[in-house]
Amino acid sequence: MDKRIMIEGAMDLETKFLLDALKQTQEHLLGTWRFVEGWYKEVPLVVAVTAVGAANAAAATALGIEKFKPAAVISQGTAGGHDPALGAYDIVLGKQSFDASSYRTAQEDRADWQHMELMGAYAYEPDSGEFVPQAVYYPGDEVLLAAAHKAAAGYSRGRVMDGCIASCNTWNRQKERLQYLHDTFGSSCEEMEVHSAAHVCRQYEIPFLGIRMISNSEFREEDFQPETAQVCQEFVLSVAQEIYRSYDCAGQLGN
Ligand code: SAH
Repeated sequence: MDKRIMIEGAMDLETKFLLDALKQTQEHLLGTWRFVEGWYKEVPLVVAVTAVGAANAAAATALGIEKFKPAAVISQGTAGGHDPALGAYDIVLGKQSFDASSYRTAQEDRADWQHMELMGAYAYEPDSGEFVPQAVYYPGDEVLLAAAHKAAAGYSRGRVMDGCIASCNTWNRQKERLQYLHDTFGSSCEEMEVHSAAHVCRQYEIPFLGIRMISNSEFREEDFQPETAQVCQEFVLSVAQEIYRSYDCAGQLGN
């Protein structure tokens, strides 16, 4: 049981399918965040209902790690497209993520929103025992990414691509800005939870992956499509099975 996977989702529609799929469930309320332990087929899971946004995702991730000691954490759900080639039902596997609100501007009299340089956040470094500035981009865990690639073979509703997730509490709908973020920082999509969860997992040294399904794209004139949230959860359960198999193959499961 110590090799269970914590799957996070922000909105109820992003966790309902996961919760319905769990057997032998046990409910927990930590602070104001709901966690449900249970089994999906042979896979031990914890589903974290984080609520929307970076602070909620960070707090729920830390509480969930302290309580359940998961072997891996996945932040999954909906996202808006930055890459014009992506549309609803396409999936971005977070090979990288960054905090799109963490930037400094050039020193200028005028406001020019394009003159910005990304900055990393401060995170705890065990060697020095201090909080020091980190790289702008955090990588997704390679083992989890490989498991997601295996699961991708069974996904037929859209594309599955390795990408870069721009994360922060903004919802951008201006095409010029979206295109700029894509061209300048390499982002594939935007959402509000992945990078803060990645940050907490990095401090705990727990493998992490963001998995996001495009639910809206200004380039396709697609409004938010709630049905994508369920399809994303179905895909994520298949990823969890692949992760579990990879642990099993590596003989890491002692239950
Ligand atoms: N339609 C919802 C919006 C919730 S806020 C409502 O009115 O309540 C946004 C949530 O959706 C976040 O959890 C975020 O991760 C995700 N999201 C989906 N598309 C997004 C986009 N284009 N920009 C930012 N967040 C997006």
